[in-house]
Amino acid sequence: MHSESARPAQATGTGGPTGGFTGHFIDGEWAAARSGRSYPNRSPWTGEVLGEVAAGDADDADRAVDAAHRAFPGWSRLPPAERQQIFLRAADLLLARRAEVAAALAAETGCGRHFGDVQIDFSVRLLRQAAQLAYRPTGELLPSDLPGTQAMAVRRPVGVVGAIAPWNSSLALGGRASIGPLALGNTVVLKPSEESPRTGGALWAEILHEAGLPAGAFNVVTHAPGEAGAVGDALLASPHVKRVNFTGSTATGRRLAEKAGRHLKRLVLQLSGQNPLIVAADADLGHAVDAAIYGAFVHQGQVCMCARRVYVERPLADAFTARFAARAAALPTGDPADPATVVGPVINEWALALLDRRVKEAVALGARVLAGGHPRPPCYPATVLTDVPAEAELAQAETFGPVVILEVVDTAEDAVARANASDLGLAASVITADPRRGLRLAAALEAGIVHVNDQPVNDEPHMPFGGVKDSGWGRFGLGFAAEEFCDLQWITTRDTPRPYPF
Ligand code: ADP
Repeated sequence: MHSESARPAQATGTGGPTGGFTGHFIDGEWAAARSGRSYPNRSPWTGEVLGEVAAGDADDADRAVDAAHRAFPGWSRLPPAERQQIFLRAADLLLARRAEVAAALAAETGCGRHFGDVQIDFSVRLLRQAAQLAYRPTGELLPSDLPGTQAMAVRRPVGVVGAIAPWNSSLALGGRASIGPLALGNTVVLKPSEESPRTGGALWAEILHEAGLPAGAFNVVTHAPGEAGAVGDALLASPHVKRVNFTGSTATGRRLAEKAGRHLKRLVLQLSGQNPLIVAADADLGHAVDAAIYGAFVHQGQVCMCARRVYVERPLADAFTARFAARAAALPTGDPADPATVVGPVINEWALALLDRRVKEAVALGARVLAGGHPRPPCYPATVLTDVPAEAELAQAETFGPVVILEVVDTAEDAVARANASDLGLAASVITADPRRGLRLAAALEAGIVHVNDQPVNDEPHMPFGGVKDSGWGRFGLGFAAEEFCDLQWITTRDTPRPYPF
């Protein structure tokens, strides 16, 4: 993890991903932390310091919330054509910076070429689809039983939305947390992860600002490692912040929900997953192995949707296991900037130590290693374990890295029962030659997202992304964001006086 530096911070006028100091972005301007503190942002691959970052606190968060509150009336009333143009311009600006942004994602978060492209393409589509939201109908007329009454339900932006995003898909998830709420007419304060202040925050500020977003409509507050709580608490406590969305672990989400309850603040929570990939005996073996390899190891397993457990029906188990383990063992591991690399570094030493500890514990309890199983710092090679006992931490908690559990089952229905025993319910997938059985299994899975004949790592800006059970509340997805980030107002109007009984 990063260590905090006491060096005073200087705002240089740029907070972006091209080097130097990364400041807060408040009211259209880059700013140092008011306390003057900063911390070094380190590359997980080289360990080099990429630059100093403003180490913000509640005071900085309050400044950002005030700016967002002041900007709300102007932004929410801007004509749709003007709002639309800003998002379209932002999409073009991001596309024009693809190579530089991909390099920044690799340097800051260890993100490889493929997943960098996934994030950039998602973000460009997010901006272009958000541009359409400007012309989305904002309500409906409703029939009333009172003669002479016209009733309508009108959607209104809520005001300031607080957005808390993780490092793992820093660009895409910082964008998903902010762009939908903004496009609906809200203003935003984004708190990126301490691991990704540039690609998860400053970069969005640069692009949106250059695209013409009015000052104060989008703000970013960064903070040192271990100090997220102060910024998060300020967002939850401010009466100007009407919604908070959070993407991260179930443990942190639960803490935020407890605090939000005290303030009666509505949250959208996108939390951990323990996602199953179920392979039926009639599946095409080559496709099933390809899907499981991608689903378990894309972005070195650091995606909340990654397959954490692969269940294979017994008749296919031997053939599947041999091919899956051999493919996993051969995945190129190392420098995220090398296009051939599949498994790059994990985000930090703490994450590497956790993977190592959980794998060792599972093995000590009787698990067998079919591939990988030993760290190669700063990477953890693709690892396949089987016979992992239920009491192992690996079997119970989300383990954010390239480690997957393989289990042989008599039937896919047994796999569904085992998967549903988890408290988590984010994503799942089923691979079978029988699409009708696939849909039956999908309906039985307690998961917010199920893909039949695909692996679980999928997202599109307009889809209803979200989990059930302890994987979260609410949905991202531009087509559904209005439910989360608008208030519905019932308005009636009468054209004649109403006859009252007294
Ligand atoms: P991950 O394991 O993906 O890093 P976390 O839940 O720790 O998951 O982090 C996700 C986001 O939540 C990051 O932006 C992090 O800084 C933030 N975060 C962590 N702790 C808190 C907290 N107590 N209050 C608000 N945000 C927090």
